Amino acid sequence: MSREITKSPKGIAAASAGASQAPALDFGRAWDYAPALEGVSHIKLQPRYGLFIGGAFRAPRSDKYFATVNPSNEQVLSEVAEANAADVDDAVRAARLAYEKYWSKMRGAERAKYLFRIARALQEKARDFAIVETMDGGKPIKESRDFDVPMAAAHFFYHAGWADKLDYAFQGRRARPLGVAGQIIPWNFPLLMAAWKIAPALACGNTVVLKPAETTPLTALLLAQLIEEAELPPGVVNIITGAGETGAALVNHADVNKIAFTGSTEVGKRIQASLAGTGKRLTLELGGKAANVVFADAPMDQAVEGIINGIYFNQGHVCCAGSRLLVEESAHDTLVRRLRDRIATMRVGDPLDKNTDVGAINSKMQLDRIRELVDAGEREGATRYSAPCALPSKGYWFAPTFFTGVAQSSRIAREEIFGPVLSVLTFRTPDEALEKANNTMYGLSAGVWTDKGAKIFWMAERLKAGVVWGNTFNKFDPSSPFGGYKESGFGREGGRQGLAAYVELDG
Ligand code: ADP
Repeated sequence: MSREITKSPKGIAAASAGASQAPALDFGRAWDYAPALEGVSHIKLQPRYGLFIGGAFRAPRSDKYFATVNPSNEQVLSEVAEANAADVDDAVRAARLAYEKYWSKMRGAERAKYLFRIARALQEKARDFAIVETMDGGKPIKESRDFDVPMAAAHFFYHAGWADKLDYAFQGRRARPLGVAGQIIPWNFPLLMAAWKIAPALACGNTVVLKPAETTPLTALLLAQLIEEAELPPGVVNIITGAGETGAALVNHADVNKIAFTGSTEVGKRIQASLAGTGKRLTLELGGKAANVVFADAPMDQAVEGIINGIYFNQGHVCCAGSRLLVEESAHDTLVRRLRDRIATMRVGDPLDKNTDVGAINSKMQLDRIRELVDAGEREGATRYSAPCALPSKGYWFAPTFFTGVAQSSRIAREEIFGPVLSVLTFRTPDEALEKANNTMYGLSAGVWTDKGAKIFWMAERLKAGVVWGNTFNKFDPSSPFGGYKESGFGREGGRQGLAAYVELDG
């Protein structure tokens, strides 16, 4: 990776002015990286992708296709099939047949071999997957390259390890697979969410029908190609594309035993209502409005990096994003000043550039929602600061932004924005911090920053969030269960708890 540093003419001027008049140097403006674009000439996307059903790609019965667009330049990348109810039915039938004929009968050690094979193939093709993820979703290549793809492979490795040890996972209770799992995922971590869903389901002996989000279907389709090459028995994994209607047809299919959904709270509630009384198992991973609680005794430099990582590095496209910053009043001014300086240095732009920190917003619809909420924040009287960066003229972009003086009742403090927008609130005592942090309908994640370990434990015990990070943020591991409370959903993904969502326990 080339990390050449060049001085811009503007930078040299600023530096020499700094030497003679000694004002504070603005290093963010003074130094720029040379472009370091990831090469894409070897990426050969098909102009059209069909549905992956029964081990092969085929045209949809609907005869309909829709475009998937690169959000950083609005160029069409490919067309993907729109599965209708008949296509969904085909996919579920293929999964049922594969369940009965092969997968439920196969020994765990044999299933593990297939999962290991997928994990290794993902590692071999990691670079291509990262590039396509970035082109289709807009996230910076350093995120997809260093986090999404390696973590997806790690999930397959981890669950491959469990496939022949399920008898030991649940303290003497025997685990049986559920059958066919219908899995619906969002656009923020397209490949990683597919891995989170598929790996535990297969390890436990289930077969799957997975539907990626309509704006980011490509890496799931590449995964289907990889699964075909790995020669999994046909129908064990089926990948169908489409939007909400396709998802609803999968949810309502009579022969699906389990639904695993990650997405908005609104759609999650609808799914829960439609499954009531059907006996189908359900796990939901929904929205969040995480609080990052910073005490005055916190290591401030580390905290600033944690805040940046928590909300800006993925354009805020993370359901566990630390979108509310609760800072102890005495540290407020210092922290806000440092935050302002830090976001002014962030590089916003071409997601394929290896130096880019903040990429494109995933879709026009998402950008409109961010703008609407930011306008609401201004109308409600909060003070806005946006990084002074030039945004590309094509594509969907939003500069890293934060608000100070935010009231708890304000929309920007209550609603999930899903963009690079942070709301700063203050507190005076740990009790007040706790009360404000828990004052949300969500409960997915939270962070605590302090020099005192005891304070971290005190807070972690009381925060109503599925994950609490101490002096760090957004750290993941396949062995660590992830999931929410309240309107953030139920069920866990990862770890033994994640396996439990895909088995029936005897005894
Ligand atoms: P987001 O706000 O993250 O886009 P959505 O809940 O709208 O969240 O979408 C998440 C996933 O759910 C996508 O794959 C989408 O196509 C799918 N989806 C949308 N509406 C429905 C529905 N009514 N039933 C099932 N799946 C749906």
